[in-house]
Amino acid sequence: MNIGAHVKGGGTLVPSLKAGVDIGVSSVQIFTQSPRMWKPSVYSPEVLEAFRTAQATHPTIRDTFCHATYLINLASPNPELYEKSLVALTHTLSVGRAMGSAGVVVHTGSHMGAGFETQLPQIAEAFLRALDDADPAPDGVAECPILIENTAGAGGTVGRSLEDIAAMIDACGGDERLGLCIDTQHLWASGFDFSTKEGANALVAEIADRIGLERLRCFHLNDSKTPLGGNKDRHANIDEGEIGQLGLAALMGHPAMRDLPMILEVPGDGDGPRASDVLDAEAAWALGVSLYDATTKKKK
Ligand SMILES: [Zn+2]
Ligand SMILES: [Zn+2]
Repeated sequence: MNIGAHVKGGGTLVPSLKAGVDIGVSSVQIFTQSPRMWKPSVYSPEVLEAFRTAQATHPTIRDTFCHATYLINLASPNPELYEKSLVALTHTLSVGRAMGSAGVVVHTGSHMGAGFETQLPQIAEAFLRALDDADPAPDGVAECPILIENTAGAGGTVGRSLEDIAAMIDACGGDERLGLCIDTQHLWASGFDFSTKEGANALVAEIADRIGLERLRCFHLNDSKTPLGGNKDRHANIDEGEIGQLGLAALMGHPAMRDLPMILEVPGDGDGPRASDVLDAEAAWALGVSLYDATTKKKK
């Protein structure tokens, strides 16, 4: 089990590890700059190295993920916005690599009516340019992948299906530095029902078939305020939404997924994930594992 949570990074990044410990998670995710501003946060080499060392030697926090700013739109038909997005992604990837992060999660953006297929070549170009132009990871530090996050399916958003995400990765020649982050609330809102063992099996099969399970590096673990297929990005606390504890358990306990980092981005009581939310996630995970392990025993 590896339950994580989105926490505050603080100016020196290291406090994010303590914030994770305080609520009892084993992985954290942070914004390395304001999620609603273009202005990049600049970290000194000393701060980045101090974080890298603190993370690598931390007794309980196993992985740190970075989430890129929400303003990024690699699919935009507006060249100025596209260029700014590319600069922001490249910068975030440089920071992520220097931190020794397990991945930089990004929302690809929206084609704004221009059409996914039409914008696909520029999306691929952006991913490849960011991967090539970002500062390289320090010696001995594992590659920090760009993790494409699925969307809730609203309007012209890009990444509303696994098929779309597979098309983006394929357009990048299957570059190994690209991976996948599945947000459970977005997946539900986009109309994928994973809330039974059959549904979770179908999800695993589709990821394996289209994208490759090795690219799936983490989940964003959220219940949903909107119904299946509602196409709205509205996170709920675990078991306080439309998916429910049992629905999330089916996905969380699946043998192919149970060991992955599952990062809470739930509202809590308004200030993000609390220790009680982590306990709720752990309970859902344990229930999920029992769903599958009970079946295995019966078969013997
Ligand atoms: Zn996200
Ligand atoms: Zn969301």
